[in-house]
Amino acid sequence: MDLSYSAEDLAFRDEVRAYLAENLPERISDVVCSGAELTKEIIEEWHAILNKRGWLATIWPKEFGGPGWSPVQKHIFEEECCRAYAPRIVPFGLNMLGPVLQVFGSKEQQDHYLPRILDGTDWWCQGYSEPGAGSDLASLKTRAERDGDEWVINGQKTWTTLGQFADWIFCLCRTDPDAKNQEGISFILVDMATPGIEVRPIKLIEGGYEVNEIFFTDVRVPVGNLVGKENKGWTIAKFLLTHERTGIAGVGFSMQSLEEVKAIARKTMRGGKPLIEDPLFAARVAQAEIDLEAMKITNLRMLFKAQEQGAPGPETSLLKIKGTVINQELKDLARRALGPAAAPFPGHITEGNLMFGPADTEHNAARYFNNRKTSIFGGSNEIQRNIVTKTMLEL
Ligand SMILES: Cc1cc2nc3c(=O)[nH]c(=O)nc-3n(C[C@H](O)[C@H](O)[C@H](O)COP(=O)(O)OP(=O)(O)OC[C@H]3O[C@@H](n4cnc5c(N)ncnc54)[C@H](O)[C@@H]3O)c2cc1C
Repeated sequence: MDLSYSAEDLAFRDEVRAYLAENLPERISDVVCSGAELTKEIIEEWHAILNKRGWLATIWPKEFGGPGWSPVQKHIFEEECCRAYAPRIVPFGLNMLGPVLQVFGSKEQQDHYLPRILDGTDWWCQGYSEPGAGSDLASLKTRAERDGDEWVINGQKTWTTLGQFADWIFCLCRTDPDAKNQEGISFILVDMATPGIEVRPIKLIEGGYEVNEIFFTDVRVPVGNLVGKENKGWTIAKFLLTHERTGIAGVGFSMQSLEEVKAIARKTMRGGKPLIEDPLFAARVAQAEIDLEAMKITNLRMLFKAQEQGAPGPETSLLKIKGTVINQELKDLARRALGPAAAPFPGHITEGNLMFGPADTEHNAARYFNNRKTSIFGGSNEIQRNIVTKTMLEL
């Protein structure tokens, strides 16, 4: 297998790089680089810029308004976006619900919802997890009961990322309480403005606000909001999770983190010398860089394989584990290098508690606590290890 980019891939990379240099506003990349809060307005502005170029829904086929890129092109695009400090695409409508509707949705659902995802009319969130149903998702209890032309929903979702901004939520609901766990679940679309929905914030350890609890009390939804067949939502749930894990290795993100660690360690003085010259610290940075290089090759092998065979397989679990372990190690190194300056919570960062004055990359590198989530969401790393054991080792 030839693991080098083709001449076309390299030309594509140059095109993306030039596009980002011209179209990504500096005030937006500055926010990403500083690690400050990305507002809804900034995210929407960036989505709109990409949509104008036809590069927003990177994983959609051309017929639905995507660019029709190969897996390798998608990877190059993500890598270049990280390199340029572009905001990450909010995935819930674009990378999760979009592909679901394209495969399982009715023509009416596709015609109605897909254009609204692209032009930003609808902001979606993901209603899967519940208290007591995270890793063991199939034990979810939120109930949807049929009443004439409506579903009546009662229950609770949790950890709902950016639910405070969402216009709609896609929910897994139990529609047959007597069926076996995976059997009686349905995939239902719910307008967040429906009476009976309450969104409560969950404050994170770092002081940020990005996840919520969502309560449903007699929430009435038209029957037409069911996607696919009644009680067959588990198939959709699994399909969506494969898409959630695509690109989860976060190669571009870790390359960015590695550069940040090195930049900080060159500036930080310990015992009269730059920290980067400390043999123990340098050895950890070198090990992380070697692991990252190895993961880049594994990632490329899987991308080229996906290019030949279609969708990625359970290998995405390997990438998820390795990618998050490497990135958490890099963020830990940044935290150690920054010392007390790594501690500020968002909103509490002032020049006074910064080690290096007004920061560029330092704030971002210090987001140690926020980054702990990556080995939990999208299916925890322990669960990914179980998947690898069962499906790849064929036990
Ligand atoms: C920041 C953040 C954002 C999130 N955003 C969303 C969202 O937008 N929408 C949504 O639906 N969900 C979201 N989640 C939820 C996420 O998917 C769950 O947190 C995750 O699936 C783990 O479930 P849990 O938290 O209930 O932990 P549990 O399932 O209770 O697991 C607790 C611990 O036990 C381990 N464990 C559990 N079962 C096993 C097993 N069989 N073998 C080995 N170890 C096991 C886990 O790995 C974990 O370490 C988010 C989570 C976080 C942290």
